[in-house]
Amino acid sequence: MILSQFQSVGRDLSSRGLVSSHSGNLSIRLGENIIITRRGSQLGCLNENDLIETGISKNNRATPLASVELPAHRAIFQQTVAQAIVHAHPPHAIALSLTETEIVPADEWLPVIGRVPVLGLNMEITPGGLADIIAQALKEHRIVMVHGHGSFAIGQLLEEAYSFTTALEASCQVSCLLKSLQVDSSRNG
Ligand SMILES: [Zn+2]
Repeated sequence: MILSQFQSVGRDLSSRGLVSSHSGNLSIRLGENIIITRRGSQLGCLNENDLIETGISKNNRATPLASVELPAHRAIFQQTVAQAIVHAHPPHAIALSLTETEIVPADEWLPVIGRVPVLGLNMEITPGGLADIIAQALKEHRIVMVHGHGSFAIGQLLEEAYSFTTALEASCQVSCLLKSLQVDSSRNG
């Protein structure tokens, strides 16, 4: 049951190009524990060995096997009511995160994901870094972007966090297309 949720979201993220072959990570809360994808796992083809269970606050023998983003996932579960987290690398959202400090989705998506803050501008971005900043922002948002890196979305289920990720990317794709049209029209005009 849990594995199939991870597999379906992982496969969809991969097939939509929202993660590259070995990037992105997923997790759910299980009481005091977290089940998170394994370090270096491929979200497009997850199997049972790719799900690592460790503490939200405590380490165990499995901790070193967990995704490099474990510190961010832990901070989010410690500081928010999230039950599930999706971290992805949606390309159009990443492009906008390099130029914007906040992504404002178009009308269709605004009620779904709200205004999306871009975190970590002018800061060194490392895997697992910015954990507290990301968690703080997710107290008030369903999804946030880390500057030039990727998205963190929360939900009651992986499926819900996944849907916020696809909504953000769909909105950013339209914004990028619009920007390119504006550039072209100014060239032609
Ligand atoms: Zn990442």
